[in-house]
Amino acid sequence: MPTTPQEAVDYVRKNKIEWIDLQFTDLPGRLQHVTIPAADFTEEEIKNGFGKLDGSSIKGFTTIYESDMVLFPVLESLVSLPWSPSVARVLTKVYWGGGKGRFERDPRYVAETAESVLSSEGYTSYYGPELEFFLFDRVDIDVKTPQQGTGYKITAREAPWNGNGGYIIRYKEGYYPAPPVDQLMDVRLDIVQTLTKHFGFVIEASHHEVATAGQGEIDFRFSTLVETADKLQTLKYVIRNVAAKYGLVPTFMPKPLYGDNGTGMHTHFSLWNKNGKNMMYDPSDEYAELSQTGRYIIGGILHHARSLSAIVSPTVNSYRRLIPGFEAPVYVAWSKGNRSAVIRVPSYYKGMEKAKRIEYRAPDPSTNPYLAFSAIAAAALDGIKKKIDPGNPVDTNIYHLTPEKRKELGIKELPRSLDEALDELESDNEFLKPIFNSSILETYIDLKRDESRTIQMYPHPIEIYYYLDV
Ligand code: GLN
Ligand code: MG
Ligand code: MG
Ligand code: MG
Repeated sequence: MPTTPQEAVDYVRKNKIEWIDLQFTDLPGRLQHVTIPAADFTEEEIKNGFGKLDGSSIKGFTTIYESDMVLFPVLESLVSLPWSPSVARVLTKVYWGGGKGRFERDPRYVAETAESVLSSEGYTSYYGPELEFFLFDRVDIDVKTPQQGTGYKITAREAPWNGNGGYIIRYKEGYYPAPPVDQLMDVRLDIVQTLTKHFGFVIEASHHEVATAGQGEIDFRFSTLVETADKLQTLKYVIRNVAAKYGLVPTFMPKPLYGDNGTGMHTHFSLWNKNGKNMMYDPSDEYAELSQTGRYIIGGILHHARSLSAIVSPTVNSYRRLIPGFEAPVYVAWSKGNRSAVIRVPSYYKGMEKAKRIEYRAPDPSTNPYLAFSAIAAAALDGIKKKIDPGNPVDTNIYHLTPEKRKELGIKELPRSLDEALDELESDNEFLKPIFNSSILETYIDLKRDESRTIQMYPHPIEIYYYLDV
């Protein structure tokens, strides 16, 4: 992959690229793009940046009266698109127009800041997200006028509710019978092969997930903060585009189906020092070979867990996932094996320094990965600085504890709604300040409040069912 403007221009010429797709991420986390002719992608223009962006149309970016923005390509991400070979995409960094410097609400900028803050403290952080998703055959959305409300119908090839008479996945048994029960292996294989052949990914696993219809997961090799966030945006982009070839509708929304597993993005996190030592590893710890620093990191994330929710579980729909009974976390606690706790310390191996990490289970893929990974780093650093004690691990199924017992053990719950999470973020955000500038934080909260308010204004079909006759 190219690293200099000259190599980038050579790549374009050699691969007969006709169009360059300049890509970046908006504040909520959606990939955005603008396409320019390859002839304009010269060494000089690459150095000057591309003044092609009207920021006023992008969520969380700029106002209508100050909206000229410039995109600077991240050359290492330049790659031709297998589904559209005359086009090469390149991720970009967003700058204010008129030489006014870096745009402070570019989510990638926050991630770059996080990386340099960590580095100035002598650390490098690593992230391994487990991306889950659904692939549906059809989604019929019935969004009428605001007065009429909304309804939707989902069709999935493996779903019993479609009257599929052959191999159907029994309730919560999608994880993971072999084909022909799993009817989506071909699509997932196409996705992972596209990722490895064209986008330089190292894949660790690809499998069906627990849900009864159409749920999958793809895991790639862990990497540093910005690189992992870039990769996650690429992964979602590839899933969407490969699935489209099969006429499928992928979704990363956290809870599309009532009564079945939701979609998470468990994130594995580890912190290393400059000498290549994993700060989380201590073979003399009997419980989980977890160091004191590792415990402080857990302490930091647990202490700020309710506030972090507004960033890692950032949609109204996220809170339909975070309920008991579906392997999603509900309680602010940590443990080795326990999947009802928000942090797990995976213990597949013994005596293996490089594998020592924590698994933070709250994130879902509706999050903006640049912001999510940055916020995790901020909480971890705060935990180390303030020596925050995470308390004792909880090794029982917390779903089954009585409220009294939970109280006795001091186990708090994650927020139950986006609004509750935003309240927490408003009152607990000092720890984010070394990494998040106030402009992005305020704009983010406004945007999310607005999203929540808009959705709350719609009577939901289930409310009609419950209340029509009150
Ligand atoms: N889908 C679950 C969640 O929402 C996780 C299930 C799993 O990874 N085994 O977090
Ligand atoms: Mg997994
Ligand atoms: Mg999973
Ligand atoms: Mg997991």
